[in-house]
Amino acid sequence: MNAPRIGITGNVRTFSGADRTGVNAAYVRAVLRAGGIPLILSPLIAPAHTARLLDAIDGLVLSGGEDVDPAHYGHVPHPGLGSVDPSRDASELALFREARARGMPVLAICRGIQLVNVALGGTLWQDIPSERPGAIPHAQGADRDQRTHPVELTPGSRLALALGATRCDVNSFHHQSIRDVAPGLLVTGVAPDGEIEGVESPPEDAWLLAVQWHPEEFHHHGAAPDHGLFEALLEELRGRASGTSPATANSRTERGPARSVR
Ligand code: MN
Repeated sequence: MNAPRIGITGNVRTFSGADRTGVNAAYVRAVLRAGGIPLILSPLIAPAHTARLLDAIDGLVLSGGEDVDPAHYGHVPHPGLGSVDPSRDASELALFREARARGMPVLAICRGIQLVNVALGGTLWQDIPSERPGAIPHAQGADRDQRTHPVELTPGSRLALALGATRCDVNSFHHQSIRDVAPGLLVTGVAPDGEIEGVESPPEDAWLLAVQWHPEEFHHHGAAPDHGLFEALLEELRGRASGTSPATANSRTERGPARSVR
């Protein structure tokens, strides 16, 4: 089949005095490695264009970045809240909700897992170090491709199947995490301190996998299990393409329980 087109949500950053919009190249490289065609979706594109944007892609990756504005889950800002980007929140919430309505596969990373949880009705810890005494370090000073804490994975879950293991050491660059899990999400990855590091959709639902760590940073590692997350997304899309329909609103029922999770 033709290589699936994977939209990756981006950010706006200032470098050398100039505003730039893009995404860490590691996401692009990880999608390329798995066989997809990455397309960067700028948060500067207004939610009014969400449907047209999704028409141009087959799968969606929600990338890392700023904190989600707690107003989106009805909490007041905590003093430890980091920077927020209202246009990015609006853009990604619209993209995710419409993608889910279409049954489009979604892989969510770091901020992405938080965005997914908020979009589906959950809440977040706004600052782990001050709100979660006893938590292990989740904002590592080590290099981005160094693994600093383990995650226990639910056997048989999409996450465990994609990683080919029931335990995975991961990198960690976050000071927020899931607090109240949104209805409809299954927790399938947990750190030793209880912080939620992986959630996913139930097997009968459209493909959704979300992790708190940064699997894309291992794109240049020969045999990292993290490649399996991107490969599982691509495999899901290839399975759809060889089936009876592309990702449409009713693909959920058409595919039913026969969907392979890898
Ligand atoms: Mn962590």
